[in-house]
Amino acid sequence: MSTHSGLSEAGMPEEATQIKVIPLICRNCGSALSGAEEDILFFCPRCRVGWEISGSSFKERKVFYAKPRKKDQRFEKLIYLPFWVFEISNIEIKAKPERIREFFMRKSSGVNRIYVEAYECFMGDIYGNLALRYLHSAPRYELVEARKVVGCTRSAETVLPFLKYYLLRYLDQFQDITGVEVSLDSNEFYLVCFPYAFVGENQLLDLTLDFTILTQGILNFHSFRQEFGL
Ligand SMILES: [Zn+2]
Repeated sequence: MSTHSGLSEAGMPEEATQIKVIPLICRNCGSALSGAEEDILFFCPRCRVGWEISGSSFKERKVFYAKPRKKDQRFEKLIYLPFWVFEISNIEIKAKPERIREFFMRKSSGVNRIYVEAYECFMGDIYGNLALRYLHSAPRYELVEARKVVGCTRSAETVLPFLKYYLLRYLDQFQDITGVEVSLDSNEFYLVCFPYAFVGENQLLDLTLDFTILTQGILNFHSFRQEFGL
């Protein structure tokens, strides 16, 4: 596990002589936080919370593990990929004619959560779109305490304004969304790290949805590899 003693603030002008450093310690308990170099969220192993760097301050985030199913306990080495999970309410859709609007309302009525990859990934078809698959499958899983959180490089705050596009992308699978407008609210979000088993060179088995993905789609896979000891 790597720990950092400090992180220089991004965006400082070159002529600045003073570099502002944010100490990577937990604001609750003073423990050293863990994470990889490119991460924007660091984990307190004692409080089991995440601290997201937001400008020059830290914001506390709830972080969880999704528990692997019982039959998957045969796998020795697991890694956990982080996703932002946004609880969704009040989906509204504008579309014409009315039957198209009703169609999209029906399709989105089961959408309670939107998932967004918090790691660095290709959004392309064969590698990525994991978040879309979670949205589509609406899987059941048990949330348990996180033990190690690494590889979170995308900020929840920057994702938030784009949530409706994730819903549109989902709806586009059923019917062309040209001219369709959506709006939604999210009152709560948190980080869930989903379990994956390393099942061969470049292959991970998703232990929540039970299918295989390629590690090439995870641009910061080296962080997971290092921290989870693959
Ligand atoms: Zn702490």
